[in-house]
Amino acid sequence: MASWLLRSATVVTMDDAGRVMQQADLLVRGSEIAGLWPSSETPHDVKAERVLEAEGMVVIPGLINTHTHCAMTLLRGYADDMPLMSWLQDRIWPLEMKLEEPDVYWGTMLGAAEMIRSGVTCFNDMYHHFEATARAVVDSGIRANVSGVLLGFLPDAEERLERAVGFAKEWHGQGDGRLVTMLGPHAPYTCPDHLLKKVIAGAQGAGVGIHIHVAETAQEVRDSQQQFGKTPVARLRELGLFDARPVLAAHCVHLTEEDIATLAEYKVGVAHNPGSNMKLASGVAPVPKLLAAGAVVGLGTDGAASNNNLDVLEETRLAALLHKLDSGDPTVVPARQALTMATRGGAQALGIGDQVGQIKVGMRADLALLDFRQAHLFPRHDVVSHLAYAARAGDVRTVFVNGQPLMIDRKLQSLDEERVFGEAQARVKRLLS
Ligand SMILES: [Zn+2]
Repeated sequence: MASWLLRSATVVTMDDAGRVMQQADLLVRGSEIAGLWPSSETPHDVKAERVLEAEGMVVIPGLINTHTHCAMTLLRGYADDMPLMSWLQDRIWPLEMKLEEPDVYWGTMLGAAEMIRSGVTCFNDMYHHFEATARAVVDSGIRANVSGVLLGFLPDAEERLERAVGFAKEWHGQGDGRLVTMLGPHAPYTCPDHLLKKVIAGAQGAGVGIHIHVAETAQEVRDSQQQFGKTPVARLRELGLFDARPVLAAHCVHLTEEDIATLAEYKVGVAHNPGSNMKLASGVAPVPKLLAAGAVVGLGTDGAASNNNLDVLEETRLAALLHKLDSGDPTVVPARQALTMATRGGAQALGIGDQVGQIKVGMRADLALLDFRQAHLFPRHDVVSHLAYAARAGDVRTVFVNGQPLMIDRKLQSLDEERVFGEAQARVKRLLS
C-alpha cells in the first residue's frame, strides 16, 4: 500500500476543535489519513515509502466545489455580460444541444486540471452526457458527485431520466469510491411536478441524492408564486424532494424566512456561488441567515461560463467580502466561517462529510498543500485569515485525492495537460463550426 509522510507542515485541520498545528507530521497510507502528530511526538517507527519535507507549507483539507458544470470550461468567455435567461436561452442552451460525449469528456478533463491546480479535490457536477463526466473523473483521479441534467421541456425528458437512474446505479462508488452519483433535475422552473415526482422516486430507488438549482433569480420566485401560489422551496418541500438524501440546492439567492427554516430543517445542502451570482446579477444569497439557522452551506463556482473560473479559494474570499458589503457589517462571514464552507461545509452539503472535509485520522486523504513562503503571505499572524483573504490558487503546490498525489510541486501527475489543451481546443472548434 502506497504511503507518504508529510513532515513539518502547518496543518489546518478544520476539525471540531478548529486546530491549526504549527509543526506537524501527517501520514497518508493507501487512501486514508493514517496518522497526524506534532512533529516532536511522531513515533520513531513510522515508516513511509515517500517523505515530503513540507516546512513552509500549509496543509488544508482539499477544497470542495459544491456546484459546477465542469465541461462548461469549453464555453468560458463565449458569452458574458448578459442576464441569466437570455444568456441561457439565446447563447448557452443552443450550443449545449450540439454537445457530444467527447466534448464533455475533454471539457471535464480541462476543468479537473484547473481544479487540481487550485487545490480543489472534489466537485459536484450537473451536465449533459454525464457518463463522459464520470469517465473523466475516474481517469483524472479527482473526486466528484455526478448527475445528469434533466430538463422538463426536452421531448425525451423521461427517457433521459431513465438513463440517469441507470447511470446512478451503475457508476455509484466507481473510481475506488471517488465517484458518487446523484440525479440532477435542472430547476423547479424547468421541471414540471410530474417529472420531479419521478425524479424523487428514481432517487429513492437508486439510493442516491438530488442536485438542483433553486431560487436563483427573483423572476423565478415571482413566476413560481404566480403559477403555483408558493415559493420554489415550498413547492419542492411539498413534492417530497427534500426527503431525498442528500439534496444539494444550488444558489438559494431569493428565500423567505420560511424557506430558510425549511432548508435548515431538512438539512438541505446549499451551494453558495458568490462569483456567479455577482456576474449574472442574480442577487445576494442570505448566507449569514442560513448559517444562523443551522443550514449546511458550501461554496461553488457554478460553470466556467458564469464565473469564469473554477477557483474555490477565490469564492472563499468573495463570500467573506460580499456579505460584509451586503449587510454593512464587517463581522459577518469571518475568515474561518468562509473556509469552513469551502471545506467541511461543502463535504457535509454533498453528503460525504464523514469521508472528507477535515484532516483527521481515518478520513480520506484529500489534501492541498499551499506554499506560504511568499511575499503576499508574510508575516503569518493568522494562517486561516491568509487562506481566506490573501492566498491564491497559484500558491497550491501539491494535491492528494484519496491518497493519490494528483499534483506534486505544480506538476500534474494524472493528466497530460498539453493533450487536454489540444483536445479541448479541437472540441471547441467543432462546436462552433
Ligand atoms: Zn449552475
